[in-house]
Amino acid sequence: MPGDRRQKRDLHALDSDGMVLCNPRDREAAHRAEVEGIATADRAAVTCPKCLSLLYKRERVSDERR
Ligand SMILES: [Zn+2]
Repeated sequence: MPGDRRQKRDLHALDSDGMVLCNPRDREAAHRAEVEGIATADRAAVTCPKCLSLLYKRERVSDERR
């Protein structure tokens, strides 16, 4: 459907290795996410629930280490 380019897909988070956070072992997924623009390093823009919970967990871990 031409003209309909609204972003309806989940926006995933990227980890420091450039991998998709909810799919950290899949290089293919990371590449796809990059090409299709469905992953972001901006955690405020992430909408994927899996990535969000992983981000949240990571934040808590780094909080405890502080
Ligand atoms: Zn995700």
